[in-house]
Amino acid sequence: MEPQQESTAAGRKRRRRGGAGKRQKASSSAQQAPPPASPSDAPSQPEKRRRKAGEAAPMPKGRKPTSLLEKMRARLAGGHFRMLNEKLYTCSGQDAFDYFKSEPKLFDVYHAGYQEQMSQWPEKPVNVIINWLKSHNKSWTVADFGCGNAAVAKNVKNKVFSIDLVSDDPSVISCDMAHTPLEPSSVDVAIFCLSLMGTNFPSYLQEANRVLKPSGWLLIAEVRSRLDPNTGGADPDKFAEAISQLGFPFFQRFDMNNKMFVLFYFKKKEKSKVVENIDWPQLKPCLYKRR
Ligand code: SAH
Repeated sequence: MEPQQESTAAGRKRRRRGGAGKRQKASSSAQQAPPPASPSDAPSQPEKRRRKAGEAAPMPKGRKPTSLLEKMRARLAGGHFRMLNEKLYTCSGQDAFDYFKSEPKLFDVYHAGYQEQMSQWPEKPVNVIINWLKSHNKSWTVADFGCGNAAVAKNVKNKVFSIDLVSDDPSVISCDMAHTPLEPSSVDVAIFCLSLMGTNFPSYLQEANRVLKPSGWLLIAEVRSRLDPNTGGADPDKFAEAISQLGFPFFQRFDMNNKMFVLFYFKKKEKSKVVENIDWPQLKPCLYKRR
């Protein structure tokens, strides 16, 4: 109940501050677009895009929907997120790129839902990776494949190439990560944090191999169920073996007793010769349940 009371009070304050003229001018769009979280908040680019498209706003973090309208919006947004998530796991990277390019606002819908899912995880793999980078060489260049909201670049001192399908952020390279514009042997660390989504995921790893320097690091965090044979997932040893054949014979796997994800740290060979016809295991989609 509390959040509803808060928003009502905030609304009263806003009404008191704004004149009647202002109120009338804003009224037609205000009926469709939900009120901003705070009157002083300037809308972000994704927010502007979402409002323009008439999309429902995601619920503020940690707040549960209270009114019927809010509940229906949350349910719709949840359904939309699950649909996009399934799409990303069941098509190629190129198809995903074309799809989001034609409707960039869907990317914001996906990420609002993704962040909502992540907020339920006791520990986010991206934070483990950020801490790992902080404890290593700050002069290393990093490529973050499937960077999402570019949390890595925002939280470390390293030079980071953030790569994703779509972005408003000019520092993010927008492309299908099977084909990046990065130079060969130009980065020290390649990261895939929950981003091996496309059906052609081996081509993302081949691209990482291309841009990584000899002895560079390849860090992969994946949803545990995708690499747990007990839940229909792939055999993690088979997965590691395939990556080893790609040119990463040294690896460590840290489960850290984490129920949600598995984290691998691979190191590239000094001189690698790629094995033809690598036997890649299939990675099943990670589909989120309706709550
Ligand atoms: N690494 C981030 C985001 C994970 S969500 C984090 O841990 O928070 C997975 C991300 O991978 C999404 O943003 C999705 O758009 C991106 N992605 C999936 N396939 C991609 C592809 N082929 N090319 C570029 N990005 C891709």
